[in-house]
Amino acid sequence: MSTQLNERRHDFYLLTPGPLTVSDEVKREMLRDRSPNAEEHTKLTAEVRSYMLDICNGAATHECILVQGSATYAIEAGYQTLIPEGGKLLVIQNGFYGQRLRELAESIRVPLVVLELPMLPLPAREDIEQALDDDPEITHIICCHAETGTGVLNPIEMISEVARERKKKFMVDAVASFGGFPIDAAALDLEAIFVSPNKCLESVPGVGIVIAKKSSLGIAKGNSKSACLDLYAQWKFFEETGWWRWTPPTHVMGALAKACERHRREGGQAPRLERYRSNWRRLVDGLRQRGFRTLLPDDVAAPIIATFHDPEDPNYSFQKFYKALEKRNIVIFPGRLTATGTFRIGVMGDLVEGDMNFVLSAIDDALTELGLSPAEAVEAGHQ
Ligand SMILES: *Cc1c(COP(=O)(O)O)cnc(C)c1O
Repeated sequence: MSTQLNERRHDFYLLTPGPLTVSDEVKREMLRDRSPNAEEHTKLTAEVRSYMLDICNGAATHECILVQGSATYAIEAGYQTLIPEGGKLLVIQNGFYGQRLRELAESIRVPLVVLELPMLPLPAREDIEQALDDDPEITHIICCHAETGTGVLNPIEMISEVARERKKKFMVDAVASFGGFPIDAAALDLEAIFVSPNKCLESVPGVGIVIAKKSSLGIAKGNSKSACLDLYAQWKFFEETGWWRWTPPTHVMGALAKACERHRREGGQAPRLERYRSNWRRLVDGLRQRGFRTLLPDDVAAPIIATFHDPEDPNYSFQKFYKALEKRNIVIFPGRLTATGTFRIGVMGDLVEGDMNFVLSAIDDALTELGLSPAEAVEAGHQ
């Protein structure tokens, strides 16, 4: 970890829910041109698939399938392939990305029940049991793990317990959490985990990752009504040829293989979470000292993104604050409809203490530029 007080290590800081600030080491891999059918690429694909299973203890029970596209493509492919004819999905929705899980199911006409919950309190066992009691036709459940729309970390262990008791198949949108938070695919008996390369794995966007239960994938032939978003066909092709069906994102895969190497070198999931937690602590403490208030109490927040209320000072507007930071090559994110009057700052990515200090000093400069000195912001926050 950096001992520098205020060290600017990157030209651009993407402090968003992803894509995010990626190391030069990962970006440099994209300068190489690779043939998708060459042995090097076949090997690299196999290594990435196997490392994904290592991260979630899924090597014996699960398969990893890669899909060209973003993480949402992976989720749609999961719905198509893993929910058979006659299946019905329960979406546990308590934020923006939960809403997206629902819309995705609606748009491809997956039979659906929505358990719509407020941002807090966290989903309770009784609510889920009630929803399952109310509709015995439900076969599958899906929920976001880290709901980056608000920053809430949902209790997937409890939900998986209910799912196992009721013999339902539980799928997790771990797009924002995988690689940074503990997820045990075998112990939680997860039907599928959906993953992005450009969140806690700290790589670039361009591939969707699915970790699917072997026994379910094995009987999923012909389920998908889409040729491209067919995990069974994609998986069979990987297994039989080592190649991708159609052109893979070769540069993106080069970057992801390097990002896996860095993840392993850092010590895996736990040390990565510790680094994010200390980045997050520094950011949240720093902004509180400057008068900002967080949307969430610390104990339910995923320490990868923090959501703050807009200050009430009339000099403040999100657009002005955003622009003032953008001038300093820092990108933050607005709040979501589920949490209006807020903004979000992410701490995932190749970031350490020195970077967070740089970000805080840039925030001070931006506040001064807005005519909102940190001291005044403190008062505004205390109103
Ligand atoms: C980022 C994110 C997504 C969407 O991923 P895309 O790569 O944009 O398709 C889905 N769910 C959660 C929780 C996310 O944070």
